Amino acid sequence: MDQSSVPDQQALFGWSDAAPPTPAPSAFADSPQARRLLDVREVYAEPAALDSPRGRQIMARLPGVRVTEVPSHWRIPALHGNDGNVARWVRVKTDTLVLGVKRTLETRPNGRSADWIAPGPSNGCAMACAYCYVPRRKGYANPITLFTNIEAIVAHVRRHVRAQGPKPEPNQCDPHAWVYDIGENGDCSVDALVCDNTADLIAAFRTLRTAKASFATKFVNPDLLALDPRGRTRIRFSLMPPDDARLLDIRTSPIADRIAAAPDFLDAGYEVHFNLSPVVLRPGWQRDWADLLTHLDDVLPARVKQQAAAEIIMLTHNEQLHEVNLGWHPRAEDLLWQPAAQETKRSQNGALNVRYSQDIKRTALTRLHQLLATHAPWLHVRYAF
Ligand code: SF4
Repeated sequence: MDQSSVPDQQALFGWSDAAPPTPAPSAFADSPQARRLLDVREVYAEPAALDSPRGRQIMARLPGVRVTEVPSHWRIPALHGNDGNVARWVRVKTDTLVLGVKRTLETRPNGRSADWIAPGPSNGCAMACAYCYVPRRKGYANPITLFTNIEAIVAHVRRHVRAQGPKPEPNQCDPHAWVYDIGENGDCSVDALVCDNTADLIAAFRTLRTAKASFATKFVNPDLLALDPRGRTRIRFSLMPPDDARLLDIRTSPIADRIAAAPDFLDAGYEVHFNLSPVVLRPGWQRDWADLLTHLDDVLPARVKQQAAAEIIMLTHNEQLHEVNLGWHPRAEDLLWQPAAQETKRSQNGALNVRYSQDIKRTALTRLHQLLATHAPWLHVRYAF
């Protein structure tokens, strides 16, 4: 991609790729980066969530913030849905927090990235990736909802792990441990800016010898370095060529920072993997992915490479999201919406999802594997989708 075609995130979203270097953990809570991502001015909360120990802990960190009680975190008409919120999309994600109680505690089988999808500690995100699927059920102005019944979530996961017993045989998720994705509907690194849900789950998995937690992230939060996961949490830094990220990964940590953080997270006790995702096909994509993989090979120390693995996830998009994005970030749609290369599939809820047509996807994956073999042969691909 021609660099001159990449819009400046500072100008568009009040966020700069040239942010100052990530500060040390002790300084992070006061860093401009964190403040720009979350500056909570308004809380919508279920009464039971407010009344819980976790809810009280969160509110103690937000003195003077206006609280509106709501019957359900699923139905906040002033917040969810798209009408009227497109224009203040990023503002809502910055200044609004929702507290709720997760009522259905269910662990679902997965088998691709993880063996299991655990009930997540949050839903929604303060970042605003243009392709994000997370808001589809709540409407697209979907700030973080934190679930305050974290003890129940942790107890559910412990029971589920114990019921499985040892993993009988290696698979693409992990050779030894049952892998539980704990961040399906949010970003655990960002959640950790405002509450201890992520810390509690990492602490729980520390003692579960047959399982490990796993979550993908686009945010470098040095606070996580102090959580002592002892190898039982896999953090997956999502990567794409930096020019794509500047256009699509709105409000996230710069790609170079995510890569640079990998050794620190490994040394702090995390397993560090990479999500090559989403792969967006556009003129020059092969050159830019080659550059990214070369950069990985250049800067990562051997100890990171030895334990790293990757997932490759090709872009999927959605017609409703496409319409919403046209209202706030149409340049992203120049990349994401490529009807000539994509085919549609109607999902169970009636939404029209689009993905690259089978031939195009197959060819692109073959090429990506070739690029990996050439530029980062140490990076084992756990699965490609
Ligand atoms: S970081 Fe993940 S959850 Fe957050 S907006 Fe981006 S894709 Fe969605």
